[in-house]
Amino acid sequence: MDKEIKELLDKIEDFLRYQEELNLPIFISESISKKSKAKKLNTEFIDYYLKNIEEEFVRANSLVELDNMINQCQKCPLGKTRTKFVFGVGNPSADIVFIGEAPGADEDIQGEPFVGRAGKLLTETLKKIGLQREEVYICNILKCRPPNNRDPLPQEVEKCEPYLLKQLSLIKPKIIVALGRIAGNTLLRKNESLTNLRKNIYNYYDIPLFVTFHPAAILRNMGWKITFEEDLIKMKNYYDSLVR
Ligand code: URA
Repeated sequence: MDKEIKELLDKIEDFLRYQEELNLPIFISESISKKSKAKKLNTEFIDYYLKNIEEEFVRANSLVELDNMINQCQKCPLGKTRTKFVFGVGNPSADIVFIGEAPGADEDIQGEPFVGRAGKLLTETLKKIGLQREEVYICNILKCRPPNNRDPLPQEVEKCEPYLLKQLSLIKPKIIVALGRIAGNTLLRKNESLTNLRKNIYNYYDIPLFVTFHPAAILRNMGWKITFEEDLIKMKNYYDSLVR
């Protein structure tokens, strides 16, 4: 494309984004509106954020390349205590991405997220609602296990979340599901009960985000299993309506 036209388009894009950030109404024709919706699902907002990071990993062209670039990370003390870096697993172009808070003991040993008892429950529940583990993508906010499974610290999230954003930028999911109160509150910068978090569909860098139970919580109280399944069915119905 001609350089000047591209510069002009970039300026218009910046202007529209600025208006949006100020919550000013943007009037655009239906055809542009449809295009911009498709673009937003294309992780435009995440890419805008990543543009400001001057690190090599933001230039990765695939999940494998990204994993290779970051799996020796020592940006926080968890780099010293981990057994394995737990990058993520699943379909590299999944429409639905599940995000937990951080690897547990089994995941730390095997290098794969959600492989312990909680992970097995997640895999079974996905199957029940018609999703195979291999067709979605599963990862965590933190890629390394916090000692004794304590909650992620803000400074760990600060270092690790850009990796998650780059993963999402490459996957381009249509829906994100945060597993558990901690994952939900951490991604959304909230401090709410899970009951409240489950009530809404949120916007994470313009990607619809659902919050539901952490599967480990279901193992502790099987009475919530049906509600967990209902949450996932709601999410699946929403997804079906998006792709219909
Ligand atoms: N809990 C999480 O949040 N993530 C895992 O990968 C395993 C348990």
